Amino acid sequence: MTDGSVIIVGAGHGGYQVAASLRQSGFAGRVCLINDEAHLPYQRPPLSKAYIKGSAGPESLMFRPEKFFTDQKIELIAGRATSIDRAGRKVHLASGDTLDYGHLVLATGARNRLLDLPNANLTDVKYLRILDESEALRKIIPSKTRVVVIGAGFIGLEFASTARIKGLEVDVLELAPRVMARAVTAEVSEYFQERHREAGIRIHLGVQATSIEAEGGKVTGVSLSDGRHLPADLVVVGVGVLPNIELAAEAGLPVASGIIVDEYLLTSDPNISAVGDCALFASPRFGGSLRLESVQNATDHARCVAARLTGERKVYDGQPWFWSDQGDDKLQIAGLTTGYDRVVLRGDPTKKAFSAFCYRGDKLLGIESINRAGDHMFGRRLLGMDRSLAPDKAADETFDLKSALA
Ligand SMILES: Cc1cc2nc3c(=O)[nH]c(=O)nc-3n(C[C@H](O)[C@H](O)[C@H](O)COP(=O)(O)OP(=O)(O)OC[C@H]3O[C@@H](n4cnc5c(N)ncnc54)[C@H](O)[C@@H]3O)c2cc1C
Repeated sequence: MTDGSVIIVGAGHGGYQVAASLRQSGFAGRVCLINDEAHLPYQRPPLSKAYIKGSAGPESLMFRPEKFFTDQKIELIAGRATSIDRAGRKVHLASGDTLDYGHLVLATGARNRLLDLPNANLTDVKYLRILDESEALRKIIPSKTRVVVIGAGFIGLEFASTARIKGLEVDVLELAPRVMARAVTAEVSEYFQERHREAGIRIHLGVQATSIEAEGGKVTGVSLSDGRHLPADLVVVGVGVLPNIELAAEAGLPVASGIIVDEYLLTSDPNISAVGDCALFASPRFGGSLRLESVQNATDHARCVAARLTGERKVYDGQPWFWSDQGDDKLQIAGLTTGYDRVVLRGDPTKKAFSAFCYRGDKLLGIESINRAGDHMFGRRLLGMDRSLAPDKAADETFDLKSALA
């Protein structure tokens, strides 16, 4: 149980959830949420999906209306945290103000990895991480005809399919030999490559953008490492993110590819935790350190920290899951499939509904499901019970998955 104030830096999925869960658990002390975006805390996933497609206003994305924060006595403090005085337990803000903390939670998330190419700073070269960027894209799409998307990860592909639905000519560039290569099996990559091609999106694999061409400050195209040139009046970059670790590092906290925290999500300082995209956490379940970028990870981390701060100290043991919407297809991933050596398909890719069960030996690591929500929910439950399913049963559509949960 902590005494005094809990100060949370960053009001994204993780930061918001720490504040809400603290109040839900009856925490009566001061709770401050430092928010460097000019919006109430909001959901990020729709930014590359429904929000960019639709016409609903920013309020459709907010977790809660302003009244919630007032009623719950969660102080939303606009601005940026600039430094931490660990000895004095103070956070300094860009405004010059200082906040005292009993416990500090770093929920600083991640930022876009920027493209280091000539002309990458032009107005028509866009990124997609925050609401303002999604809003800017939504506004300019109707005036554009041809977009080159750099990076075929989740966000690049989600945006590409939305842009295509909106009537743009779309080219996607990817350095790897297949799309979403770091995150999904070859079977799932192939399925999505085919689906995007059917939708009229041109996917170029194994190539890199070497320069962005422009005339009079307007983007005219992108040159590729194989010598080709693609015309474009818009470039959208989705080449990954960098975790925001600098605040922690400058305060002398250990960092690597994230802010290093133990299995309780505590940094080396017992008064500072880190959650979500910025946290590199020790995972007894997966045997090593992980940094994940997902809503599940950020919100489950947040609940774990809020529980500890209100007296229920437990090891973080969340079961990873994730989703991505691309065109008419919903991809859902249960578990962590890294290190699989065998893939068993259930269902039929030609019918646009199948799951890839990923195994190491006979141990089920995770399931990637396409338009098979039942398989996904099964996977989450089974993996949550630390159980596996024999590969032959996974492949057999007549085998009732529910019986494996009994
Ligand atoms: C377009 C898009 C689509 C996505 N789709 C999905 C999806 O379909 N499914 C899924 O599971 N995940 C998805 N994600 C990932 C998911 O949104 C992130 O994993 C999640 O937002 C992480 O939450 P977080 O709180 O750790 O970080 P964030 O949500 O990034 O919040 C961190 C906040 O901290 C702020 N901040 C940083 N430094 C400071 C400072 N010094 N002072 C004050 N504030 C600071 C940042 O500006 C930001 O507002 C998507 C992400 C994006 C960008």
